[in-house]
Amino acid sequence: MLCCAPEDALRRGCWRKLICGASNQDLAAITDLAWVYTRAGVHCIDVAPDPAVVAAARQGIAAALRPGQPPPWLMVSLNDDTDPHFRKAHFDPRHCPAGCPRPCEATCPVAAISPEGVATARCYGCGRCLAVCPLGLIEERPWRLERSQLLEILEICQPDALEIHTRPGAVAPFTQLLTLLQPLLPRLRLLAVSAGGPLAQLIPYLWQLHGLLVTQSVSHLWQLDGRPMSGDLGRGTAHGAVALALGVSRHGPPGLLQVAGGVNRHTQTLLQRHGLVGPGEKAPAVAGMAFGGAARQLVSPWLAAAQARGRPLHQYPDLADVAVGQAQALLSLPADPRA
Ligand code: SF4
Ligand code: SF4
Repeated sequence: MLCCAPEDALRRGCWRKLICGASNQDLAAITDLAWVYTRAGVHCIDVAPDPAVVAAARQGIAAALRPGQPPPWLMVSLNDDTDPHFRKAHFDPRHCPAGCPRPCEATCPVAAISPEGVATARCYGCGRCLAVCPLGLIEERPWRLERSQLLEILEICQPDALEIHTRPGAVAPFTQLLTLLQPLLPRLRLLAVSAGGPLAQLIPYLWQLHGLLVTQSVSHLWQLDGRPMSGDLGRGTAHGAVALALGVSRHGPPGLLQVAGGVNRHTQTLLQRHGLVGPGEKAPAVAGMAFGGAARQLVSPWLAAAQARGRPLHQYPDLADVAVGQAQALLSLPADPRA
C-alpha cells in the first residue's frame, strides 16, 4: 500500500489531489487519469460538476484500487460567481423516420431520449447521442445551469467533497452558493475553498469566509491558488503557490492549507525548505498539494498511446506501469506508516 487514507493524509501533511480540469470532459482520459493516480496513491480526485465525468472518474478509481487500499475522495468543483455552462442535446422527433432503430435512445446513459425527443431536465450533455444518429438530426445547444439544477446534478454525482472557486471581494456570491449547498454539507467529508490573488487582498477575504465556514458542519480547507504567477511547467512556477502558503500560514485564518496552481515536482522541496511540511509528528502548516497541468501532462503520452490502441490504459501493462511510476515520482508520497 502506498500511503494513508485521505483524512490521515490531511493531518500528516501528505495530502495529494489530482485536478482533472473543470472543463475536461474527455471521459476516456478521465478514467485513465483516475486509474493512474489512484494506483499512484492520490487522496482526492477533483472533477467537473458533470455526472458523466464523475462516473468516468469512479470507473477508473474502482479499476485501480488494490485490496485494502483506501479509495481517494471524489471532489466536484464549483464557481461561486458564474453559473456553470452545460450543453443539452436537442432534436425534433417529427423529422425522425418511422423505421429508425433509435440508437440515440439506446446510447443515452440516463434515458433522456424518448419518442417525444430529449427530456431537457434529464439530459446532462454528455454528447453520446450526437454521434450515433445516422441522419445527424441531433444538435447540441448551450445551456446555462440554474442554481436549483446544480443541486440536482450534485445529488446525482454524490461527491465526497466539494470545492468552491472564489476570489477576493466575492463574499456575496460565495454566501449565496454556500446557502444553496446547505442540504449537502452534512454528507461531505471536506469543503475546499480555492482562491488566489495578492496576499493583501486574499488574507482579509479568507478571514471573512472563515466567519461563514466556522459554523458549518463540514471541515474546510483553503486551496491557495498560485496559478496567476505560473504555468505549471518549470521550476519557477512552484514559487507562487508556496509564497501564498507562507503568507496565509502566518497571517490567515485557521483551517487546513493546500497549495495548487503551479504545483510541480519542485513544490515539495520548496515547502520543506520553508518549513511548511516536514517529517515527524508535529502538525505541518501545509496539508498537501494539488497537481493539475503537471500531472496531466506527465502521463499524457501513455494515455494517448492507450487511446490509439483502443482500450483503457490499465489494459496495457507495458504502458500502465510506466505511467504509474511517473505519477508516483511526481506525487512524492512518503511510505505508508503502517507498512
Ligand atoms: S447528450 Fe447524453 S444525456 Fe443528453 S440526451 Fe444525449 S446521450 Fe442523453
Ligand atoms: S437516431 Fe436520429 S433519426 Fe433515429 S430516432 Fe434518434 S434522433 Fe431520430
